[in-house]
Amino acid sequence: MIDPFGRPITYLRVSVTDRCDLRCTYCMAEDMTFLPKRELLTLEELDRLCGAFIRLGTKKLRLTGGEPLVRRDVVRLVESLGQRLGQGLDELTLTTNGTQLAKHAAALRAAGVKRLNISLDSLDPARFRDLTRRGDIEVVLDGIFAAKAAGLAIRINAVAMKGVNEDEFDSMIGWCGEHGFDLCLIETMPMGEIDSYRSDQYLPISVVRGRLRKNWTLEDSDHRTGGPARYFNIRETGRRIGFITPMTHNFCESCNRVRLTCTGTLYMCLGQDDSAEFRPLLRAGASDDELESAIVAAIARKPKGHDFVIDRKRETPGVARHMSVTGG
Ligand code: SAM
Ligand code: SF4
Repeated sequence: MIDPFGRPITYLRVSVTDRCDLRCTYCMAEDMTFLPKRELLTLEELDRLCGAFIRLGTKKLRLTGGEPLVRRDVVRLVESLGQRLGQGLDELTLTTNGTQLAKHAAALRAAGVKRLNISLDSLDPARFRDLTRRGDIEVVLDGIFAAKAAGLAIRINAVAMKGVNEDEFDSMIGWCGEHGFDLCLIETMPMGEIDSYRSDQYLPISVVRGRLRKNWTLEDSDHRTGGPARYFNIRETGRRIGFITPMTHNFCESCNRVRLTCTGTLYMCLGQDDSAEFRPLLRAGASDDELESAIVAAIARKPKGHDFVIDRKRETPGVARHMSVTGG
């Protein structure tokens, strides 16, 4: 699948649920309303749609959410998607907050998952609880080390926030180095209403990178994982650091991704509202050919890029839906 701007679309992210057991302050409001469960695609419907994408050239699938591992029986979906590895699909991964990993890590590895992105915005237990409004860091750390023990490669994701965790990046680099994890720092994006001003939290990665160079030697790396992160090798730890910079450096020109929500809505861009609905088609008994034609038609509408802006004068979010709906 090639979009109108000549970009091959080979990467599908699937938000398997909009629900989450945490309420990270930058991601959700405290009193989030979640979708009624009847609106969700079943795991079988999700699997069928993913199959159609794979037949059309999707090489990489990432399950995300919300928190993907709080969806009941989601490991069943991972197992059935895992069967497609080597049959068109090259990689199956998840982005998770880690709270359920102690339970599921071994099954994920057995299903063919080799790598996980795990979100951890602070190593300080009290700060972690504040940031997530309820999380217990020990549970997440147990999950992270269970994933490591199961043989999964780990990238820790942290959203860089001014006045929140900006004093921790040096210690996080050290901690990741010690345990053999890569680290990725992400700029906050204006998606959905939260309970604070995004402009208060926004920290450009260009500023962070300048500060990190005081203590670490960042060497250019051409490592790519098929996503938007740009990587550097950290000479002192031997691990990588990635930066996701949707705000300071637009990553759209090399975009290879589209995103499917748990209700069967396909968003062709994280930062735009145009979408295509697959649930009515699935429930009307569409054939595989009809599903594939609908996917191709949607890709033909993929826009050039997002137009996120974060500033004091424009505090309405760039897009109204939360990252947890579209899938980060
Ligand atoms: N619950 C899982 C987790 O936290 O990893 C998966 C879903 S979460 C929406 C995926 C990623 O999006 C996480 O790394 C999270 O930190 C990030 N994220 C959420 N809201 C964001 C925002 N407004 N700007 C930037 N990143 C955001
Ligand atoms: Fe949940 Fe992930 Fe959003 Fe945090 S970032 S509230 S863990 S979906």
